[in-house]
Amino acid sequence: MKFIDIHAHLESSQFKRDLKKIIEQAKKVGVVTIINSGVNPETNRETLKLSKEYSIIKCSFGIYPIDAIVKEIESSEKDFLRKIKPFDVDEELNWIEEHKNDCVAIGEVGLDYNSPEFTKHKEKQIKVFEKAITLAKKINKPLIIHSRKAELDAITILEKHQCKKVVMHCFSGKKSLIKRCVENGWFLSVPPVITRLEHFKMLVEIVPLKQLLTETDAPYLSPVAGTRNEPANIPITIKEIAKIKNIDEEKIAEQIFSNTKDLFNL
Ligand SMILES: [Zn+2]
Repeated sequence: MKFIDIHAHLESSQFKRDLKKIIEQAKKVGVVTIINSGVNPETNRETLKLSKEYSIIKCSFGIYPIDAIVKEIESSEKDFLRKIKPFDVDEELNWIEEHKNDCVAIGEVGLDYNSPEFTKHKEKQIKVFEKAITLAKKINKPLIIHSRKAELDAITILEKHQCKKVVMHCFSGKKSLIKRCVENGWFLSVPPVITRLEHFKMLVEIVPLKQLLTETDAPYLSPVAGTRNEPANIPITIKEIAKIKNIDEEKIAEQIFSNTKDLFNL
């Protein structure tokens, strides 16, 4: 079986020491492509660098909604955030456009209303999101969407722009919103944390196999609480999907592989 991880953060400091081993482990279980998502200028460049070091890694360049408003966020909240240097969104989008041939997607981009401080800057988040959408359409790349406590707004904006190539990454929206994504022909990617989150089991039940993808969001969202997630965990997701859909693992893997290849032009 061949697998693809459509969303990971292997440039994370959590992989600094043993990335080579992590990639070997992924290959060993059958992972053939890992789409690494940058979230700001620094990680976009690190992602590009990794893709040159490891042929298994493909790039997705993004602007994380919170990173885009780091200038505006109160210093008390800032302590909770990663150390992000403020940056110019337009300049970064230009950089992404210049590197369009190096990436297979735009993301992660989206909206995050997870704290009142983030929601205070909703307008700016939406502005950045819409700029990213415009770029993705211009260079004809799929969007990988982060939406936390902002699912309805994210969907409404994507609909307004008539976006077709969309992946809702780790989507936490309710049933009716999942159905709306499906009706729009969008894709939903399932992380290995499905083993311990009922929400994703429900999501897999609702979403047709032709619209499912697999991701890890490594090092986050591990199937085992408190441990580091890695691309080698993709088969865990496939196994769970097979159980829920009551279809052979091989068939699940094959269909998801072909969904992914088509969407990202791999
Ligand atoms: Zn992510």
